[in-house]
Amino acid sequence: MAGKTIVVANWKMNPATMREAKKLFDAERKTAEKSRGSSVVIAPPAIFLRELSSMYRGSKVAFAVQNAHFEAGGAHTGEISLVQAKDARAKYVIVGHAERRAEGETDDDARKKVAAALSLKMTPILCVGESSRTDEGEQYDVVREQLRLGLADVAASSLPRVLLVYEPLWTIGKATAMNPREMHQMAIFIRKCVVESHGEGGRSLKILYGGSVDEKNAAAMLREGDVLGFLVGRASVKADEFAKLLQAIETA
Ligand code: PEP
Repeated sequence: MAGKTIVVANWKMNPATMREAKKLFDAERKTAEKSRGSSVVIAPPAIFLRELSSMYRGSKVAFAVQNAHFEAGGAHTGEISLVQAKDARAKYVIVGHAERRAEGETDDDARKKVAAALSLKMTPILCVGESSRTDEGEQYDVVREQLRLGLADVAASSLPRVLLVYEPLWTIGKATAMNPREMHQMAIFIRKCVVESHGEGGRSLKILYGGSVDEKNAAAMLREGDVLGFLVGRASVKADEFAKLLQAIETA
């Protein structure tokens, strides 16, 4: 992935049918194959994962699950495990997404999922971000605590295997993304926290941004936001918007 912009396509609970999922995947796979500047990870609903991954023979697209349980098995009705996700060819797992935190996922769950993913040689995509900002800078306390807990079981030597997404709740599903300069400040703060907790290796933590990323704001965010890529919701479930987004990334 070195040098390429990491684009994680979070399809959330879309589309409605396997047929549409195949169509969307096929279009995005073609876009990813043409792109020289992006490295694409697609996170479809888990129910579509195995069929999509088994029909794909290429190497330009990797697969993620949007969530998985840290236990390898057991009495967890309705859950899927990281082991099962890996067996269906997911290499990545999104952890602590704001929408899952809103459903009750805790920092402690995130910590266990991050550690379990690393032990299975999967890449955790840990999401952090405040729900709102205050003049007193409460956002920094929230992010520091989410980092402290979410990365608590990660050895310094494993930090390069983690993707960290800063995704403030107030930018998800909205009309505009965050200002790149504010992202830059937050990236500096995140690195500082991780250097404090994990040592100098924290400086090279891979930081992505998420929240209303589209073809109009991606290039500026890459140039000025101090991020290596994006977690993308809405613009990843429309094949034409996704193609325009990757095109905009090429020109950044
Ligand atoms: C997301 O799902 O993580 C997200 C950022 O959504 P959107 O791009 O639609 O704001």
